[in-house]
Amino acid sequence: MITSTMQDAPLTITQLFRHGRTIHAESEIITYQGPGEPAHTATFGEIGDRVDCLASALTALGVESGDRVGTFMWNNQRHMEAYLAIPCMGAVLHTLNIRLFPDQLAFVVNHAADRVIIVDASIAPLLARVRDQLTTVEHIITCGEGDTSGLGDTIDYEELLAAESPGFDYPDLDERAAAAMCYTSGTTGNPKGVSYSHRSTYLHSLAVTSAQTLALSESERVLIIVPQFHANAWGMAYAGWWVGADLVMPQQYLQAGPITDVIESTRPTISGAVPTVLSDILHNRPDADLSSLKYIVCGGSAVPRSLMEAYDETFGVEVIQAWGMTETSPLGAIARVPKRDSSNDPMSWRSRTGRILPGVEVRICDDDGAPLPWDDEAQGEIEIRGPWITGAYYLEPTEEKFHDGWLRTGDVGSINSKGYIQISDRAKDVIKSGGEWISSVDLENTLMGHPAVREAAVVGVPDDRWDERPLACVVLGEDATATPAELTEYLTGKVAKWWLPERWAFVDEIPKTSVGKFSKKDLRALYSNGELAVENV
Ligand code: ADP
Repeated sequence: MITSTMQDAPLTITQLFRHGRTIHAESEIITYQGPGEPAHTATFGEIGDRVDCLASALTALGVESGDRVGTFMWNNQRHMEAYLAIPCMGAVLHTLNIRLFPDQLAFVVNHAADRVIIVDASIAPLLARVRDQLTTVEHIITCGEGDTSGLGDTIDYEELLAAESPGFDYPDLDERAAAAMCYTSGTTGNPKGVSYSHRSTYLHSLAVTSAQTLALSESERVLIIVPQFHANAWGMAYAGWWVGADLVMPQQYLQAGPITDVIESTRPTISGAVPTVLSDILHNRPDADLSSLKYIVCGGSAVPRSLMEAYDETFGVEVIQAWGMTETSPLGAIARVPKRDSSNDPMSWRSRTGRILPGVEVRICDDDGAPLPWDDEAQGEIEIRGPWITGAYYLEPTEEKFHDGWLRTGDVGSINSKGYIQISDRAKDVIKSGGEWISSVDLENTLMGHPAVREAAVVGVPDDRWDERPLACVVLGEDATATPAELTEYLTGKVAKWWLPERWAFVDEIPKTSVGKFSKKDLRALYSNGELAVENV
């Protein structure tokens, strides 16, 4: 090997932080304070000084290199300050999912051994429920107004910062050191932790800004709807800071009414959200003015083609589908239309799960672990590797989740010759009927194209003859009606005949997970407990 002459500069969040605070000192973070209230705005320059103060304050509290500091917060400016101060001082940011069940919340705090937690006072009671069980937490820092009485002794965030002055001597860090951690939402068993390094965050941030992916730049204003505790807000917060995009933080105002008020009043150009949020806006605020948005990145679960078409028609806003996981930082694939589109049908590309991102490698493997061809047909488990893909779970031996250095995603799908992935299911949600697979995702997406259907989730339920058959759970739109016979007729010709569900349940709401996805585990439990009114056709 011939030695390169290049410098070996470590890839750290400190670089990203310094760049944003100086080069883009005039860019802004706008934190929404509720309908009719003036938003709080601060520049990156001002925030950089506050980040210094937070780093000094945490140091004064005894936080040392490698210590975990939790955040239990909405998306807001202070959360971004924690995003920057904690990793840059050499500690580890642990974003806590505020919607976890109490037992799981206590589990992740104890498992990560958080020493300090910064909490938004408005949700302090949620943390207070488990305060007694938190064995490692020494200090709780509260932000803003709220009932913090159940937390014991607390320290006020602003008082803490007021006692410090700008200027902090950030340490030189190893790029491979942990910078942040996030636990999966634990749809089965306890949540598992992923710890991102400085290097992985730096590289993922570069990937997020690329024109091939989210194309973040100084010219953009990014509305960060995806929670900062859900896979780092899909990387938009760090990447946006780095390139000087204005960041709009909506806090708890995520329902259709307030979030469209945020959009109309702050006029962001880019946003990202899970399908359930977009569907909520579409059905409750179809008259909203979303014209400032160039596109919205959508993922976390399959994005129905009908939802993308409705956004085109109703709002004139492009929805771009992306795929990823907490374990993949999270961006792994994004469904932009290829340059040579001989199909003349952009939607046939946009409705795919996503095209593999530069920087990661993806393959599909059969049950024996043998790689399958990229012929758009062969179905196997998706495996991924690359510098922002986790290689292990934090303090949790899980060899079965890895295969020769590749992460086994638990997603099943195919890949075509241009590297577009199509996910048909999560392995644990696949419906196996008479030895053949039925894609619950395909059935759901097709059903959600019916004008009367607002939401549809399909799960496999035991069947004497076929082992498993699909049960379709449907939420109808307001004042809409549809019978199983009508929906079956609608599906006919769009999916294989033997996929057509015999069992139907019309429900008011599909249960959701802590990150807003259909909770199939809960649906299956409702079914097996006899709590669903099922019509058999
Ligand atoms: P959790 O595993 O806790 O639900 P994640 O956000 O890490 O949280 O979930 C990652 C999973 O979400 C993926 O493995 C995949 O099953 C699903 N997913 C993400 N994006 C898409 C997409 N565009 N289409 C289908 N499934 C998706």
